[in-house]
Amino acid sequence: MMEETFDIHGNRYQQDNEREYENTLRPLTFGGFSGQDKITDNLKIFVSAARMRGESLDHVLLHGPPGLGKTTLSNIIANELGVGFKVTSGPVLDKPGDLAGILTSLDTNDVLFIDEIHRLSPVVEEYLYSAMEDYRIDILIDKGPSARSIQIDLNPFTLVGATTRSGLLTSPLRARFGINMHLEYYDMNTLTGIVLRSADILKITCSHDAAHEIASRSRGTPRVANALLRRVRDFAQVKGNGKIDKAISSYALEALNIDRYGLDEIDNKILLTIIDKFKGGPVGISTIATAVGDDPGTIEEVYEPFLIKEGFIKRTPRGREATDLAYRHLGRRRAEEQGLLF
Ligand code: ADP
Repeated sequence: MMEETFDIHGNRYQQDNEREYENTLRPLTFGGFSGQDKITDNLKIFVSAARMRGESLDHVLLHGPPGLGKTTLSNIIANELGVGFKVTSGPVLDKPGDLAGILTSLDTNDVLFIDEIHRLSPVVEEYLYSAMEDYRIDILIDKGPSARSIQIDLNPFTLVGATTRSGLLTSPLRARFGINMHLEYYDMNTLTGIVLRSADILKITCSHDAAHEIASRSRGTPRVANALLRRVRDFAQVKGNGKIDKAISSYALEALNIDRYGLDEIDNKILLTIIDKFKGGPVGISTIATAVGDDPGTIEEVYEPFLIKEGFIKRTPRGREATDLAYRHLGRRRAEEQGLLF
């Protein structure tokens, strides 16, 4: 299986050392995982109850934008249940045989994590239904007249599915998850705490205000925060004394051209489209998507929530509008304001 990892904007690419860095910083218990309190409070109860009964935990669906801790949480669930953990992803499982192989290798009550579960092929998804419901799969062997189906019993297990695009899940699949949770962007204090925790693990001295500066440019996302910490550490080593303080973090983040609000290239493209091409809106999501060259669902589920939360976009009945903050951030002026000058 190919390892997947992400750059500071959450884009996927393959590089082992990035993956290793992420794994070093991955909390292994609920105690080490900060934020998402509503989710963790409930999960702790479900996990304890399953443990007390010696049963497998209900299947869990985690949805939300990339880098917010879905993989981390599923790992924690397995650890806290005291069971084995296997990882795969939707695009990797392209044949029912791939799924059968991994399902039959699970021990009693193990956790199977399927990342990007919205990208499962329909035929693999069908197989998953009986596996999730009855812990059994029917496998078709041979072709033509000698084709026959054999039934394989599985050990009870917990499927944890993760998706950035819950809108793409079919309703039969969604209905098979007893626990369904949405991860939110992190607030500044929690994210500052995560940066300080990571610095501690990496044995880097990092001041509180420097950690806050890194957090404020991290798009509410721990993965981005950890990636920025890594880059700032390089600057501290080469340009400073190895310690991260406010001055070196500001210097590094400016040098790296990191957006003051943590917006990434696509965020800015979306705002520029609304402002420059559609006079600030209102404009419909599919029109924005076409202009940006992405699909409407991704814009709506992955990008827009952050832009709305931070006050760059307003949702109105007639479409999306850019706010004054978006204009100021991009150094644009509204047509009315420009008009006043002449
Ligand atoms: P996702 O699966 O949602 O894309 P991950 O679980 O892979 O995100 O998290 C990305 C990185 O962010 C990991 O290195 C992880 O350690 C870190 N991380 C995510 N959530 C938290 C958290 N609540 N506390 C500390 N670190 C976190």
